[in-house]
Amino acid sequence: MTNEQVIDRFKQTGALLEGHFLLSSGLHSAVYLQCAIALQATGDAIEFGAAIAAHFQDRQIETVASPAIGGLVIGYEVARQLGARFIWTERDSGTMTLRRGFTVRPGERMLVVEDVITTGGSTRDTLAALTAAGADVVAAASIIDRSGGKADVGVPRLSLATLKVAAVSSEECEACRRGEPVVKPGSRRTVSSQQ
Ligand SMILES: [Zn+2]
Repeated sequence: MTNEQVIDRFKQTGALLEGHFLLSSGLHSAVYLQCAIALQATGDAIEFGAAIAAHFQDRQIETVASPAIGGLVIGYEVARQLGARFIWTERDSGTMTLRRGFTVRPGERMLVVEDVITTGGSTRDTLAALTAAGADVVAAASIIDRSGGKADVGVPRLSLATLKVAAVSSEECEACRRGEPVVKPGSRRTVSSQQ
């Protein structure tokens, strides 16, 4: 799938909205992205999974790991298509950890898969947890890269599509300056642009 095909699919399903949005981080953005909306269509999840899996077919990936919750659907699908095992990490008092009895073998060849990379924090933290357990994390992947290609996770990284839309504070926001009302996605409610 090309960058445009992925973005078009996200727009068609309402997973990518364009406008003036207040993100949960408190920052404003001209783009709102909700990967869960894109992945509720299982046929689309299979296609995104195939596009990621195709890049790692010859890399002898034994296990795919994803940070919960966002990475679970796409991570599982990539693992299924690679014939690999699938596990996930989750935060325990803020620290990304392997729980639920999941273990990794020293030298186990692993791929970390997320839905969206923004700063790379979740992927980096997952990678750190796996590496500390002895795994050999060979690469990371996501459907969307919101960092404009900048996120560095310490291993080679693949994204199916890259967005270059910065999230900014209300003081720096062009749309606020033009007096456009800001929308909190999910609420369909217009909130004060003074926030
Ligand atoms: Zn704004």
